[in-house]
Amino acid sequence: MAVNSTSSCPGPVLESPEEVLSTMNKDGKRLWVYPTPSKGTLWKWRLAVAWALIAFFVALPLVKIQGKPAIFLDLLHREFTFFGLTLYATDTTLLMVFLLLVLVSVFLATALLGRVWCGWGCPQTVYLEFVFRPIERFFEGKENARKRRDAGPWTPDRVVRKGLKLAVYLLLSFGLAHTFVAYFVSWEVLQDWMQRSPTEHWGFFVMMAMTTGLIFGNFGYFREQMCTIACPYARFQSVLMDRDSLIVSYDPGRGEPRKRRSGEERAQEKASVKLALGDCVDCGACVRTCPTGIDIRNGLQMECVGCTQCIDACDAIMISVNKPKGLIRYTSENVIEKKPARIIRTRVLLYAAIMVSLTTIFAILITSRTPIDINLGRVVGEPFAVLQDGEVINRLRFRVQNRTNEELHLSVVALEPAGTEVKLSGPAIMHIAAGATHRVEAFVVVPPTAFTNGSSAALFEIMAANKPALSSTVAFTLLGPSTPKESKP
Ligand code: SF4
Ligand code: SF4
Repeated sequence: MAVNSTSSCPGPVLESPEEVLSTMNKDGKRLWVYPTPSKGTLWKWRLAVAWALIAFFVALPLVKIQGKPAIFLDLLHREFTFFGLTLYATDTTLLMVFLLLVLVSVFLATALLGRVWCGWGCPQTVYLEFVFRPIERFFEGKENARKRRDAGPWTPDRVVRKGLKLAVYLLLSFGLAHTFVAYFVSWEVLQDWMQRSPTEHWGFFVMMAMTTGLIFGNFGYFREQMCTIACPYARFQSVLMDRDSLIVSYDPGRGEPRKRRSGEERAQEKASVKLALGDCVDCGACVRTCPTGIDIRNGLQMECVGCTQCIDACDAIMISVNKPKGLIRYTSENVIEKKPARIIRTRVLLYAAIMVSLTTIFAILITSRTPIDINLGRVVGEPFAVLQDGEVINRLRFRVQNRTNEELHLSVVALEPAGTEVKLSGPAIMHIAAGATHRVEAFVVVPPTAFTNGSSAALFEIMAANKPALSSTVAFTLLGPSTPKESKP
């Protein structure tokens, strides 16, 4: 729904009670948008950013850092790799802090820069505006030609053009779906699956077909409705922004009263005669270029994705009529209303303070994270047993995770209490692959003198034979006889 939150903007936002969306007819049918690209300065910057992001998206699962993809979200094994750092299920706190950090940085970016993500970084905008629409223009021609053809009958020319476009869309969607899935299964696994029959990997085959279908449907048909109807970020942005957030805005103080100039008025303006008119020449270029089909002159609207196309379109018009650029520009609602600009506000300070705290916690957690994670527990059953010679046995269960990116050969010793022996139920050296977890039972044999009131504080060390610098310790309370009569001589 078109929402006008700028009280100073003239004109009704909703033309009639029936108008619901800028891309919907009164009878509820889809109103197809044919935005004319405005290739101004901002468009050129966005083009560069878009292709850099596309290159990143394709490269990240391919580029290896310490033998692993730069980003690898292995949901199956609950391992998440980011540029050489692998987080495991045992790193829940770290993951939680990381996700909170991402969330709060989104809050901060939105409070400061409004919908800059939507206009510059969101895959929906990037792929639609810089990949799918250019393909559409290539096969179906410019906006007016497409509009005329779409309004007419299904001629062979129309069928061929649309067919070719959709075929390329499908191929692209297929490629994008594979790249997307590579983030979750890795390219190597993906290539292996692709060389096999679908019957061997029905789950993968269905998932890939569905992802391809979703991408194809989204960019082929759903398009701007993803932003105006479906995207949850678009919905809650209004609570993250305030009147000082940066938005793409029309300056009604300068533009109104708008009027399409007559020949005489144009001549007068050329001769520097001051007319009682605003700078807006009511050319409609800002509306024609808008990918969500709105009129920015109606004020801030939820459908505006901040793509800056109307800025480029209006700047070009302003240059052609000899007026200063910036009738539509990046600014804030307060500045438009001639109030002072404020970058530092309570919410900005609050988000920044939370971000600093979370970053500190994250740094502490990362630096205190051990390369070998040990989890120690008691085996179900008798808590201890006393041998003939009085020694006490505790049966423990070690869960050891190798958090490094290479195989480790690990052994366990007891540092405390003195004289304690650890006998693993398997081989004394555990060969644990990178990222793998090994579970093993152990008999811990403790001298009876180590116990006071039925317990003894123990300290175990796990050492890597092939990486002596890596070792990890874990403390545990061993149980034993509380009175001398329980121990046998
Ligand atoms: S109003 Fe302007 S910035 Fe907003 S979506 Fe339309 S063209 Fe882009
Ligand atoms: S492009 Fe500029 S001059 Fe033309 S209608 Fe839009 S705001 Fe007015």
